[in-house]
Amino acid sequence: MATPVIVLMDIDGTLISTAGAGRRAMQRAFARHCDRADALDGVKLGGMTDRAIIREGLRNAGRPGDDALIDAVLATYVPELAEEMTRCDGYRVHAGIVEAMDALAAAAGLALGLGTGNIAAGARLKLERGDLWRRFAFGGFGCDHEDRAELLRIGRDRGAARLGRDAGQCRTVIVGDTQRDIRAARAIGAAVVAVGTGGNPLDALCDADAVFADLTAPGALHAILGR
Ligand SMILES: [Mg+2]
Repeated sequence: MATPVIVLMDIDGTLISTAGAGRRAMQRAFARHCDRADALDGVKLGGMTDRAIIREGLRNAGRPGDDALIDAVLATYVPELAEEMTRCDGYRVHAGIVEAMDALAAAAGLALGLGTGNIAAGARLKLERGDLWRRFAFGGFGCDHEDRAELLRIGRDRGAARLGRDAGQCRTVIVGDTQRDIRAARAIGAAVVAVGTGGNPLDALCDADAVFADLTAPGALHAILGR
């Protein structure tokens, strides 16, 4: 029997792009609580978890990064993001995603989940807009852990539970678009397939097991499945 596979998909830059909607929602939430809409200027958000983004913004704003304040900013961020999703014109689902998700959903012995720094409420809003949320029964999210590697570990363990296996009996593969995805995947001993759809040059992602411009590329699905 083939080795069971757990696939954890990153969201921003991998499944979809929101044309800056996430950043705008975060900036408005920030402004509400910290009076500083510019605290995230220049911060490269790709691959960061939501809590880590806010913690860095608070540091830039000269405010202590206490967890209660982070929770408060996140609580404001969710309705701001919902509003953004109703009008975000540049939103798109990346090439090959729907077809790849169809193929992975049909594969035997495979658990298809999310591995994202978005809190679950934000992930849901971003993916419902593209009718992708219903495709993922589980995941590791930014509300599970502030550290990307740890949320991937949590997602992996949920995937293993769905397969009725121990994580050690499964092949775990992370699909992402940043160096941060690659580092976090390595930290939990997972394979990683990188895509260029988030705008990072492919040679900057060469530490991944495989790199593709997008998931329409020949061999991309095979690299994820490992079969
Ligand atoms: Mg990403």
